[in-house]
Amino acid sequence: MTETIEAPAALKQINHWIGGRSVAGESGRKGPVYNPATGRQSAEVDFATVAEVDRAVQAAKAAAASWRETSLGRRAEIFFRIRELVHERREDVARLLTAEHGKVLSDAIGEVTRGLEVIEYCCGLPSLLKSEYSEQASGGIDVYSIRQPLGVVAGITPFNFPAMVPMWMWAPAIACGNAFVLKPSEKDPSASVWTAELLKEAGLPDGVFNVVHGDKVAVDAVLEHPDIAAVSFVGSTPIARYVYEKATSAGKRCQALGGAKNHMIVLPDADIDMAADAAVSAAYGSAGERCMAISQVVAVGGAAGPLIAAIEERIPKVKVGDGLDPSSEMGPLITEAHRDKVASYLEGAPGEGATVLVDGREDAPADGFFLRPSLLDNVTPGMKAYEDEIFGPVLGVMRVDTYDEAVRLVNESPYGNGTAIFTRDGGVARQFQFDVQAGMVGINVPIPVPVAYYSFGGWKASLFGDRHIYGPEGIDFYTRGKVVTSRWPDPATSKVDLGFPQTR
Ligand code: NAD
Repeated sequence: MTETIEAPAALKQINHWIGGRSVAGESGRKGPVYNPATGRQSAEVDFATVAEVDRAVQAAKAAAASWRETSLGRRAEIFFRIRELVHERREDVARLLTAEHGKVLSDAIGEVTRGLEVIEYCCGLPSLLKSEYSEQASGGIDVYSIRQPLGVVAGITPFNFPAMVPMWMWAPAIACGNAFVLKPSEKDPSASVWTAELLKEAGLPDGVFNVVHGDKVAVDAVLEHPDIAAVSFVGSTPIARYVYEKATSAGKRCQALGGAKNHMIVLPDADIDMAADAAVSAAYGSAGERCMAISQVVAVGGAAGPLIAAIEERIPKVKVGDGLDPSSEMGPLITEAHRDKVASYLEGAPGEGATVLVDGREDAPADGFFLRPSLLDNVTPGMKAYEDEIFGPVLGVMRVDTYDEAVRLVNESPYGNGTAIFTRDGGVARQFQFDVQAGMVGINVPIPVPVAYYSFGGWKASLFGDRHIYGPEGIDFYTRGKVVTSRWPDPATSKVDLGFPQTR
């Protein structure tokens, strides 16, 4: 009998995007891209050299000059077109996200929709870039401020939101008149190329948006490039710190958003069913691979028993599977190595004194990089499961006696991204918003990602830099201010005066 051996399907090649066209990488170095639901490699992505990053920067630099001169009206018109195209095609890009990241399709559509809100905000760029004018600041003297683009700016993004997080950066950067170089995550890079093609179709001039793929070589080339004025970074804390230090020491403006460990405090007066729904949704949505995921529930006083029972009741009902299956609610993790690392916290928890109430290694789908929702109890500070950002579907429960103890836990955490409180007591909730050291606070809201007309960012080791991302602070980050003092005097009144200018 003749055996037929199936030839392996050709791997999709993912190339750079420089100066308005796809450019094959020349380094010979490539990275694998997987479908995490099957565990099979689906593509390979080029890794850029220093010279290729430079080519992208030069393309951006050439485009930046005329883009800056493009009228606000024309820029806004292009943004409206971008908005329409992303809206029409959000399911196309969502399918790419599911295929490379693993998140379920409905969640991927949600990601694109939240990113779209930032694009919509940027459609108002003529208003956003309006400045101030003071007539008669002194006799015959008017003073006004203007905001100007920085030139070429760059974004370096993580794997967990391959469409939305780049939108947080390129949309305000380009709206403000800059040209942009994106270094997306090498783990799920297709959305960035999809974006590049869409922006071109919407009428964005070539070179205003560029993509270079790669690893540390490409990142370092961005951080060291003298023609890049500012860098936005989103990713893990150690790399955020590295990027911030390197970029700022090279004289660049930098905002570097890092990792998180988000606590959800549940007070005894909370609606326990509502809190359990919120905890399960926020801990296991996107397999816990969200920087705003709830990773710790802090149960105060008598809340612990009923809350844990309600969470345990919900966990077996979470449908885990391929994100393209409409019945799936939670997909796989990004890579096999990451899944194994997340699972190692379940292995290690009992030795540290925590209790594994639900072990997601049991009954996880065999193919792909799956782990089911997992629940730990009796988690305390000092345990690895508490100190590390696990970034997977492992929810820890901590038991404390008082509100003060709960807030102390949050405030002593090195991270300060998001946090939430569940209570029916408005006074306590208000006190919490006053006391808590975190950049984004939810009151009966477990994932308080700000709407696009506010800005997103954490405190402490969750953000290096002084500007949050998107919203008004995003516009601020991608522009620099200039103040003009102007007078049109009668030359006949001109005389030498060595005194310091007075206004009264
Ligand atoms: P990561 O830090 O590993 O990678 C982020 C980017 O940095 C990628 O583009 C990657 O190629 C690059 N990079 C990785 N290692 C590098 C190195 N040694 N030198 C230079 N560049 C390097 O993060 P990730 O695993 O892709 O994403 C998950 C992390 O991102 C989590 O920690 C999560 O909390 C965080 N995150 C934070 C936010 C936020 O808003 N604060 C949002 C999303 C994700």
